[in-house]
Amino acid sequence: MADMTDGEEREGMDMGGGRGMDADVLRLRPHHLLCIPRYVGEGYGEDFNRAMARARDFMEAGGMVELVRGEDDICCSCPHAPPHTPGGRYGSGSAEICSTGWVSRLDDLVLRLLALEYGLVERGDVLLSRSRARVPTVKEVCVGCPWLELCLQVEKGWAEG
Ligand code: SF4
Repeated sequence: MADMTDGEEREGMDMGGGRGMDADVLRLRPHHLLCIPRYVGEGYGEDFNRAMARARDFMEAGGMVELVRGEDDICCSCPHAPPHTPGGRYGSGSAEICSTGWVSRLDDLVLRLLALEYGLVERGDVLLSRSRARVPTVKEVCVGCPWLELCLQVEKGWAEG
């Protein structure tokens, strides 16, 4: 996939912390391409939830996204205390599951499933459509995630229209 900017003016994204207030490109780790379409307001805390909602709105509006390794512009709002990713960009904490390598392996798997690569810059709405089309369910993909049951409930809602 190429960078498909179409010349439209787009608002910068206020992440409310982390790396400044007006990023033009949202830095996103790949597995969040599965989480964002299934996000219904539940998360690791208020700041994290706000970051998820902002990322979703920004992407749905066609904001540009860069796929990155490790902590991204959502992780920086995670309230969990150390251990955090060694050398992490923000020095913020990570949920326990994020310090085990499980999340990084999930990131790599999602890239393969979506046929994408780290470093890609693409419109958020294009990436979300691709995610929904290529991974209609996370049932077999996200085994081990504490939010899996909730995400499967969201998918059930999709199926029921
Ligand atoms: S199960 Fe976990 S990793 Fe998978 S989409 Fe849901 S929140 Fe994201």
